[in-house]
Amino acid sequence: MGTSATFEVSRAVARLKGAGEHVFDLGLGEADYPAPRAALDALAAVAATGRSCYTSVNGTLELRRAAARSINGMLYRQSSVSSYYPSYSPDDIVISAGSKHLQYSAVLSLCDPGDEVILFSPYWVSYPDVVRMAGAVPVVVPSASEDGFVPPVERIAAAITDRTRLIILNSPSNPTGQLWSAQLVDGLCDLVLAHDGIYLLSDEIYAQLVYGDAVHHSPVAYSREMRDRTIVTTGLSKAFSMAGWRVGYAAVSDCDVRSAMLRVGSNTISCVSSVIQAAAVAAFDDRARLDEMRIDFEDRARLMQRRLREIGIPAMPPQGAFYIFADVSGLFGRTLGSRTLRTTRDVSMALLERARVASVAGEAFGDNRHIRFSFVRPLDELEAACEAIESFVGDCTRSKSPDPVHS
Ligand code: GLU
Repeated sequence: MGTSATFEVSRAVARLKGAGEHVFDLGLGEADYPAPRAALDALAAVAATGRSCYTSVNGTLELRRAAARSINGMLYRQSSVSSYYPSYSPDDIVISAGSKHLQYSAVLSLCDPGDEVILFSPYWVSYPDVVRMAGAVPVVVPSASEDGFVPPVERIAAAITDRTRLIILNSPSNPTGQLWSAQLVDGLCDLVLAHDGIYLLSDEIYAQLVYGDAVHHSPVAYSREMRDRTIVTTGLSKAFSMAGWRVGYAAVSDCDVRSAMLRVGSNTISCVSSVIQAAAVAAFDDRARLDEMRIDFEDRARLMQRRLREIGIPAMPPQGAFYIFADVSGLFGRTLGSRTLRTTRDVSMALLERARVASVAGEAFGDNRHIRFSFVRPLDELEAACEAIESFVGDCTRSKSPDPVHS
């Protein structure tokens, strides 16, 4: 197991900042908004009581109610385009310390050593290691920008074997910012339902951050059976900008899977801080703030895409999340001083060293052409970061050998 690449970048940025350097931090996916005011006020009030306690492993009823209401609301908004309207009760909800821990619990609950878990590359950095921690085997189905970063269903079908136990879907995707269309989600659901014993883990942490005409489609809206074969994970970190609160929640209607996940929780984290849980309930009411963020992020996405295009770095316009996946393969084979850029890691590292712009190399996502920028800084800072990227690209001279290495 490796260290999460996103946290490696974050450590490198902290080191530079600690040495007094200015860094354009487009590395870690952590929005620059404060937590909603109502949650901060609730936190102060709860802290002032001086009380804290263990809660039940699945979380307090109040927070599970709020989480179920939030998921049901999202599904309801989507119900105009789906045939089935699923809903969850607070009993279906599991609260944990971020959605990453819930994904770990779900994989550990479902997979035996040697079982296979299908991931779609570019995938989020932690999926392969979470799978390996359970002794299971990641099976990567690739997609490229030519596919809109969504693999065709036939390619997924070809990866299914007798050992396939789980498929992990992440739409909107980290790192590509692309969404799966209703048609593709339906195709994936048909595939899952055609195979007994295969579950779907739907990472929907960015489902509330979609832009323009894009619509998020959850596989649980396909049918009741699909709902029962799916574990939805999400949380407060992204849409509510509460990453440091560490509140994730999963909707799990299969009670065997849920109870296995709770056994993992009971023997690892016990529960999320009772103080945080009590205050977090208030966050869900702030939909106005979410709309404000969405409009702002859409502007940021547009700016990044336009500036990168002007610089000569192609990137698909993000449809959701707060990442832009930029194709830097045109820089491969160019030199900076004595160094030749050959991989996405070379480009990402050189950008940090030379231009003080943090990014995450595509290799961490199973991709060898792109790097990820998180547009989690205000517009003027993104503009300045793009200027720094532009002069970095200008400093990269074409190598004498016209032989770019795509490793
Ligand atoms: N999910 C965010 C990212 O990809 C935050 C860090 C993490 O947990 O990886 O940057």
